[in-house]
Amino acid sequence: EWADATGPRRVLLAGPRSFCAGVERAIEIVERALDLHGPPVYVRKQIVHNTHVVDDLARRGAVFVDELDEVPPGSVTVFSAHGVAPAVRDEAGRRGLRVVDATCPLVSKVHAEARRYAASGHLVALIGHAGHEEVEGTLGEAPSSTVLVETPDDVASLPAGRPVAYLTQTTLAADEAGEVAAAITGRFPDAVGPHTDDICYATTNRQRAVAGVARDSDLVLVVGSANSSNSRRLVEVAEAHGTPAVLIDGPADIPLGRLAGARVVGLTAGASAPPSVLDAVVDALRGLGPVDAEERTVTVETTEFTLPKEVRTQ
Ligand code: SF4
Repeated sequence: EWADATGPRRVLLAGPRSFCAGVERAIEIVERALDLHGPPVYVRKQIVHNTHVVDDLARRGAVFVDELDEVPPGSVTVFSAHGVAPAVRDEAGRRGLRVVDATCPLVSKVHAEARRYAASGHLVALIGHAGHEEVEGTLGEAPSSTVLVETPDDVASLPAGRPVAYLTQTTLAADEAGEVAAAITGRFPDAVGPHTDDICYATTNRQRAVAGVARDSDLVLVVGSANSSNSRRLVEVAEAHGTPAVLIDGPADIPLGRLAGARVVGLTAGASAPPSVLDAVVDALRGLGPVDAEERTVTVETTEFTLPKEVRTQ
């Protein structure tokens, strides 16, 4: 298997790839909280969906918990980039936790829309994937007015009788979200929603970039962890452009069998995957033979978010 995978190849690097502004901010919040307060700093859920990021911060003193009842009262506690339901904020208040909120501002924006639509009497159809932490947080803003819609078929079960608004998870594939939104406006012509969707700039850019390299590649490798929604969508987008794609958490997962005969390999990384892991994948490919790497950048990102005041220093 190993011998078949050797040989010279071209690697097309999709740009943008890897960390987005929301992930960089969330990681920096945990790092600064550790600097300011010393360990342990508790983090509810994975700060971002990446094993390398979580393991690295855990080594430095972050303690990841699933729910707040695992956090000693009064402790410094970070909410993850995916956001939390208001009930979680309330519980943190009851337990006297010192909260630093790493919710991505683009997720907070969707929460605000959910509150606004629910307050104006709308039924809110949230397009997203069941069980994802972002979806659980957004659903929690107005639980009695919000219904999760995963597929166009789910639209049939939305209750009639109220004006309908729709929102989307930030990390969906644009085509998939568009199909569900079309089913909603098909059944409820007056439904209101965002201009196209709430898919964030980073998700959109990474999908556009991987689509471009997929067209010219024999195989696409997507660096990201298995529970990373935006990374999994990158695999699907590459496959939708006719190229087999594999999600890998790091160099150890490189599928040698699939590399045999793949002379051009497209490479990208999800918004939660560190650039250093992608670099390690390129190094591993170089270990199999000469690599001619080419950047294919569709746009340059300049988005930056400010830090919350709890961790801002002068
Ligand atoms: Fe924010 Fe988008 Fe990054 Fe999620 S993927 S953290 S919504 S910028």
